[in-house]
Amino acid sequence: MLNGKVAVVTGASRGIGRAVAIRLAKEGAIVIINYNGSKERAEAVKSEIETAGGRAEIWQCNVSDYSACEEMFKEITAKFGSVDILVNNAGITKDGLLMKMSEEDYDAVLDTNLKGTFNCIRFVARQMIKQRGGRIINMSSVSGVLGNAGQANYSASKAGVIGLTKSAARELASRGITVNAIAPGFINTEMTEVLSDKVKEGAVAQIPMGKFGEAEDIANTVAFLASENAGYITGQVINVDGGMAM
Ligand code: NAP
Repeated sequence: MLNGKVAVVTGASRGIGRAVAIRLAKEGAIVIINYNGSKERAEAVKSEIETAGGRAEIWQCNVSDYSACEEMFKEITAKFGSVDILVNNAGITKDGLLMKMSEEDYDAVLDTNLKGTFNCIRFVARQMIKQRGGRIINMSSVSGVLGNAGQANYSASKAGVIGLTKSAARELASRGITVNAIAPGFINTEMTEVLSDKVKEGAVAQIPMGKFGEAEDIANTVAFLASENAGYITGQVINVDGGMAM
């Protein structure tokens, strides 16, 4: 149980982040639902958590903005006294073939997925070091592990998240802070909803379990990594992908 622990989940207004926020709240954590543009949807997640008897707060912050992240963690720490769990989940795709990819689309994906993860770790670490403990869980992707045609920017960002996870794990281990990554395969969310039927069929053909996963499959793994039971696990990348990247 995570009773009374303060958990920040980035990009929690929908999809995987939403499921993670709901799950951590069910475990007893006070959950900060970070979002960028979807305020109403973040509020809906908060209501859902409160209706179930949990505690949550919504927090707007564009994770790619370094000083906005500094401000967010300063304010959260001042308000709640600690940050025990950080789930770096916010992410975007801007798919396209390498030869046609614009500089803007490359930078936007790297800025949100990789720099955003760095920004949040950078400012939460200060507080977690003071507390002498914490859990950081970063969302990578099967694309970061295997690469994926049409996703050079996204794959680079998610492979970068793996390197960042391992470096941070090495730096923070002696302070009682674990840092791990999850590499989801294809999960049913708005991010994959936009894929054509042809792409979806091609993806399913590569998944030994023969189906897409659900956001709750990822939330279950986050809940484990945030729990006492995962206290001796750090620097790992856990594939939750129906066997795709074995
Ligand atoms: P999604 O449904 O598109 O949701 C993305 C979330 O990220 C939204 O809550 C969005 O908030 C937030 N976000 C985007 N840019 C942000 C920013 N600059 N600052 C703060 N929040 C931001 O995506 P998802 O499928 O749940 O994916 C969640 C994570 O899992 C991502 O990192 C993704 O790369 C990773 N992942 C997903 C899959 C999959 O198959 N779905 C597979 C592997 C990895 P707003 O709506 O407020 O902008």
